[in-house]
Amino acid sequence: MHSPIQLPDTWQTLLSQTLESPEALLRYLRLPDSLLAGANRASLEFAMRIPRPWLDRIEKGNPDDPLLRQVLPLAEELDEVPGFTRDPLEESHSNPVDGLIHKYNGRVLVILTGACAINCRYCFRRHFPYAENRLGPQQWQNILDYITADPSITEVIFSGGDPLVSSDSRLNQLITDLEQIPHLARLRIHSRLPVVLPQRITESFVNVLKQTRLKVVTVIHSNHPQELDSHVATAVQRLTQAGITVLNQAVLLRGINDSVTTLKTLSEQLFAIGVLPYYLFTFDPVKGAAHFDLPDDEARQLMRQLQDQLPGYLVPRLAREIPGRGSKTLLFTDQE
Ligand SMILES: *Cc1c(COP(=O)(O)O)cnc(C)c1O
Ligand code: SF4
Repeated sequence: MHSPIQLPDTWQTLLSQTLESPEALLRYLRLPDSLLAGANRASLEFAMRIPRPWLDRIEKGNPDDPLLRQVLPLAEELDEVPGFTRDPLEESHSNPVDGLIHKYNGRVLVILTGACAINCRYCFRRHFPYAENRLGPQQWQNILDYITADPSITEVIFSGGDPLVSSDSRLNQLITDLEQIPHLARLRIHSRLPVVLPQRITESFVNVLKQTRLKVVTVIHSNHPQELDSHVATAVQRLTQAGITVLNQAVLLRGINDSVTTLKTLSEQLFAIGVLPYYLFTFDPVKGAAHFDLPDDEARQLMRQLQDQLPGYLVPRLAREIPGRGSKTLLFTDQE
């Protein structure tokens, strides 16, 4: 009768309790010690960071687990590979004001924070110098002024790092400020948290989004169907029930999702929980992650087979970001 009530951990607690020791990871997952030396060395360049809800989805004893492979530091990361650079997107060239990237017509990307709940080994932000920087009040004012002065901007994209690492009250304040700008119509949130730490999508967060006059689009990031557990389904359902469009972007990664079966299942399972596939990005040539790279020809071959097996609306757009272009570049079209 009087059993203690176990409250589930809050997302803030889960966020603060990420696993950062390769040794503890290998022990917990019963993986061979031979991985340890490489993992320790690679994690000095880019720390290992794994939240528990992600860890729970990794199969024990399987060094090839697709979720493990995205987060386990490997000795290969230290290889020098020509053409793989620290700033593959040359983003340092398109910051008119601090924290804002304006490369494409009509939409601007705002970097709310450099922090993430997870460190993905393939991430092009792994070398960003201001990894933990948060947007200060003066910077934010400059961003608001920039957007206000340019009526062609109709959409603001919250990006990072992961913008949903920010608290609800902070997000609410930022959104309230943006709403005052009459020419803004849409708010887009690019976040991996609905997948990595789905507990982040609380009712109170969804209420923040429900209150804005802006049309909200959320782009989540899932690379493999094994990521989509019941917690993710609940998080997405909360968003879609609030009238929010939820899209997915994935990165095509060798050894993780470079098979037609995996990509097909990913699209189908995303749709089953209310998400439409958006982009499938080919890999950015980021230093330390060359072992994830897949040649364009193989990527196109995969797309051809995927298109043969799925309804059109479940086929993601194979794309890449090429510095200097006014949009993402599509790599697979039917003319080929
Ligand atoms: C990817 C990206 C966007 C969004 O592009 P969409 O094709 O609209 O998804 C906007 N700004 C920057 C800087 C980007 O990198
Ligand atoms: S969550 Fe996104 S931004 Fe953060 S490390 Fe992973 S890929 Fe990079």
